[in-house]
Amino acid sequence: MITPVQTLSDDALQFLKQTLGDELVTTNFSEREYHARDQSFHHAHMPAAVVFPENAQHVSAILKYANEHLIPITAWGAGTSIEGNPIPVAGGIVMDFLRMDKILRVYADDFQVDVQPGIKYKDMNAKLASDGLFFAPDPGANASIGGMIANNAAGTRTPGYGATRDNVFRLQVVLANGEIIHTGTRSKKTSSGYDLVHLFIGSEGTLGIVTEATLKLHPIPEHFSAAVASFETVAGATRAVSAVVGAGLKPVALEFVDVATVRELNTTNEFHLRENPTLLIEFHSATPHALEHELALAQELCNDNGCIFFEVGVGRVERDRLWKMRHSTYEVLVRNHPGISFLICDVAAPVSKYPELVAACEREINALNLPGASIVGHAADGNAHPLVPYLPDDKASHARALQALGNMVRVALSLGGTATGEHGVGLGKIPFMREEHGASLDVMRAIKRTLDPNGILNPGKMF
Ligand SMILES: Cc1cc2nc3c(=O)[nH]c(=O)nc-3n(C[C@H](O)[C@H](O)[C@H](O)COP(=O)(O)OP(=O)(O)OC[C@H]3O[C@@H](n4cnc5c(N)ncnc54)[C@H](O)[C@@H]3O)c2cc1C
Repeated sequence: MITPVQTLSDDALQFLKQTLGDELVTTNFSEREYHARDQSFHHAHMPAAVVFPENAQHVSAILKYANEHLIPITAWGAGTSIEGNPIPVAGGIVMDFLRMDKILRVYADDFQVDVQPGIKYKDMNAKLASDGLFFAPDPGANASIGGMIANNAAGTRTPGYGATRDNVFRLQVVLANGEIIHTGTRSKKTSSGYDLVHLFIGSEGTLGIVTEATLKLHPIPEHFSAAVASFETVAGATRAVSAVVGAGLKPVALEFVDVATVRELNTTNEFHLRENPTLLIEFHSATPHALEHELALAQELCNDNGCIFFEVGVGRVERDRLWKMRHSTYEVLVRNHPGISFLICDVAAPVSKYPELVAACEREINALNLPGASIVGHAADGNAHPLVPYLPDDKASHARALQALGNMVRVALSLGGTATGEHGVGLGKIPFMREEHGASLDVMRAIKRTLDPNGILNPGKMF
C-alpha cells in the first residue's frame, strides 16, 4: 500500500495552486475535517488538502503530479456513502467535484444526457423535468452522479429501471497517470471490445476518476399507482415478493417494511399504517387500463400469500406520499431512539431466497435485544437493509452489532447472494471480499495494478 501522506510539501501545494488557482485548493482545517468522514461509523481520516477541480484538464494535471510524487487521491461526490467509501484513509488529496456540476448536453430524442460528475441526481432530475425526462436510480440521499457511478448505487426504482450500472452509456475517465480516456458509446447496442464502462462503474474511484458521463433517461410516466399491502407474517410478505416477480409483473418498486419499522413510522402521526409486515408497491403505465390490470393481479398474488389488507392509491400524490414515508425511515428511527446508533446492513440474495434472508436477518437483529432493530429492503431485488442497533459508547455492543452484520452477510453469501447489494465495498465489506469472490479477487487486484500501479487512487479500499 502507498505510504500515507498527512501533509503536503510546499512544492506540492504550490503546484496545485498554480494549476487550479488559489481559491480551488485548501488546507483549511474545517474543509479537511468535513472531507474526513462519510455517513458511516468508520473512523475519520483527514486529507492533507482538498481541491475543487473545474474540468478534466485540472483532474488530469493533478493525477499526473500525484502519480509521480506518490500522493494518495480520493474522489469526493456528496459524502453520503455508508461503507466508508470516500474516507481518505491514507490522507493525501481529496478531490471534491462540487464545481463540476453541470448538465452539458441533453439528447432529448435519444433519452440521454451528458453531465459532469458533481451534479446531484435530484437537482439534475429537477432540471430535466422540463424536458419530461428523468434519471431513474434513486438512492435516498441526494448523491452525486460521480458517487453513484463509483458505488453502482441503486434504490427503490431499481426493479423497474435497473441500478446505476444499467443507466450509463459512456464515460470520460482520467487514469491514475493523468491520461484522459473516453469509453462506451451513445449507441444502445455495442459488441465492441472489453466493457470498460462497466469496469469503472462500481470501482469506487480506485481505477480512475470519472469526469463526464452520458446517462440513460426515461420519459416521466403518465400514470402511477401505489399500493400498500399488509400481511399476517413476514414469511407471507416475502413470499408474495417472489410471487409478484415470478408472475412476470413489472413493479417499478417493491419495498419490504417490517412491523418494527411500521411502528416507528406511525409515531410521526403523518402515516397511519396497519402494524403488520408490509409491502409498498408502485406501478407505472402508459394507460390507466394497464395499471388496473397489474394492480388486480398483484393484489391476487398478495392475497394468496396471506395479505390481510391491500390499499390502492392512484396518481402522483399518493405515489409521492408512499416514498416520502419510505425514505424517512432512517431519520425517524434515529429521532425515536436517542442514545442508540445503527449499522445499516446491505445484503442481497436471489429473490426466491428473500424469505430465508429476511428471516435470518430478523433473528440476528432481535438477538441484540436493543430498541430500533428493524428491516427495510428493496424486496424485488432481493436486497435487505437490516438496521442493526448498538450503544455507541460501548465497544462490546458495537462488536456484537458487527458480529450480527457478519452473520447476515454469510447467510446472504450461502444463499448465492452478495455482501453488498448497492452500498459498495468501502471499508466495511473488505473482510468478505475473498469469501464472495474467491480467485476472482486476484483478477481484480491485477486490474488494479494495471490501471493504478502506484496505488494512488482511493488507497485502502476494495482489497
Ligand atoms: C439516508 C441515506 C440513504 C441511502 N440510500 C441508498 C440507497 O437506497 N441506495 C444506494 O445505493 N445507496 C444509498 N445510500 C448511500 C449513498 O447515497 C450512495 O452510495 C451514493 O452513491 C454515494 O454518492 P456520493 O455522491 O455521496 O458519493 P461519495 O460518498 O462522496 O463517494 C462514493 C465513492 O465514489 C467515489 N467517487 C466520487 N466521485 C467520483 C468520481 N467523479 N470518479 C470516481 N470516483 C468517485 C468516492 O471516492 C467514493 O469511493 C444512502 C445514504 C444515505 C445517507
